[in-house]
Amino acid sequence: MRVIVLGAGAAGLAAARRLHDAGVAVQVLEARHRIGGRVWTDETFAPFPVEYGAEFIHGERAVTHTLAAAAGIETVPVDRYGRLRWSDGGPARALDALPGARRDLIAALFQTLDRLRDLPPDAPDRSLAGYLRESGFDDEALIVADVLLAQTCCASVETLSCADLARELRVDHAGKREYRLRSGYAPLLAWYASGLDMRFGAVARVVRHTPGGVTIETDAGVFHADCCVVTIPVAVLQRGVPQFDPPLSAPKRWAIQAMRVEAATKLLYRFDEPAWDADLTFMAHTGLAARWWPAAHTTRNAGVIIAYATAARARALDALDEATALAVGLQELQTLLGRDDLAQRCVAARRIVWSADPFSYGGYAHVPPGAATARRILAAPEGETLFFAGEATVYDSNPQTVHGAIESGWRAADEVLKRYSSSTQIFR
Ligand SMILES: Cc1cc2nc3c(=O)[nH]c(=O)nc-3n(C[C@H](O)[C@H](O)[C@H](O)COP(=O)(O)OP(=O)(O)OC[C@H]3O[C@@H](n4cnc5c(N)ncnc54)[C@H](O)[C@@H]3O)c2cc1C
Repeated sequence: MRVIVLGAGAAGLAAARRLHDAGVAVQVLEARHRIGGRVWTDETFAPFPVEYGAEFIHGERAVTHTLAAAAGIETVPVDRYGRLRWSDGGPARALDALPGARRDLIAALFQTLDRLRDLPPDAPDRSLAGYLRESGFDDEALIVADVLLAQTCCASVETLSCADLARELRVDHAGKREYRLRSGYAPLLAWYASGLDMRFGAVARVVRHTPGGVTIETDAGVFHADCCVVTIPVAVLQRGVPQFDPPLSAPKRWAIQAMRVEAATKLLYRFDEPAWDADLTFMAHTGLAARWWPAAHTTRNAGVIIAYATAARARALDALDEATALAVGLQELQTLLGRDDLAQRCVAARRIVWSADPFSYGGYAHVPPGAATARRILAAPEGETLFFAGEATVYDSNPQTVHGAIESGWRAADEVLKRYSSSTQIFR
């Protein structure tokens, strides 16, 4: 007997690894010609790894550290939020160099977000914007909150569910400190995937499922198994890929459509040498390219910097041609750094547009107000043979992260093992 895992991102690899290690015959069908999905480490843009997708480990206790240690990959602390620099026009400045009112506002926004954990689970849901307004913040404060709180969730303050944010704060077990993998993320997943049976270019088009098994029609052929773990991103599922025959249950279809996936775009710039001081870890402002950090996975200060925009800002950048979008970003960078020579010194630039990627259609999923049950419904198995994992399904950890996706893969693998524990046939 066999299990098929659809998708070779962090969730799919985690599910496949756990099943394989438990002695199950497992095959991974992946649409792309690489593993990793929204983990995509580039080795060509700079003399060190640069992340086109996931970049940081969010939390000192994230499971990623355990895997990295087993793989012999070093994790390096990065203090982004503690060393945040903000600009209201002109060069970005450390918080203690900002006018007191701006510094206090930024601190109050983070504290107010943190207090969401005390929201009673049965409190009526509202948007983060609504909650901030109720907490006394004005429209100008909401613009700052959009950059510092919502952009990182690949959302706007108006579309983030407070109930879902509160849930995440309550179940978080990863911690708040941030890290990079010195080698980049890709070598970690390559290590994790070693020995797994993979088929690439296998875009799943149709999933036929009966209590007796599954048949998956893909661009690389037709595959049969006893059950299937679906880790395909929810924005792909929203577009009806793959088709399920018979269709998924009404609650599952509701959950898929209830989730929101916004655009996520990175602008990358390489300079002949760093155009910033070695202490820079994070700059933000209310421009289009709202958030910036140096891309170095090494400890030395290397000459690559990344702007990461999501939601409306990413959509605005995506609507421009690549050269114009990169020029807009560079102009904002010059202002933030107080320089006017960056165009001459830039030796390479690139834009990564996740909304144009047919295997993710955007960044990562968020829950809008009123749909806080969607993650759990999305995660639930369907019938005897369909199991679900992936960052959008994470309800007991941090969604929108690599470590959350890994945990969801383990959860789905455990569900498979539990379902079939009375059967000896599933084991090789
Ligand atoms: C720009 C960006 C920055 C991010 N930054 C961070 C960060 O700093 N830290 C962090 O922890 N997380 C970050 N994330 C989030 C993190 O990358 C994701 O949460 C995580 O990688 C998702 O893993 P997954 O397995 O759920 O999905 P994916 O990685 O998307 O894996 C799903 C797989 O399914 C495949 N697939 C899609 N359609 C089909 C089909 N029809 N048939 C077969 N296969 C299919 C895809 O090709 C993909 O390989 C970032 C994401 C983005 C986009």
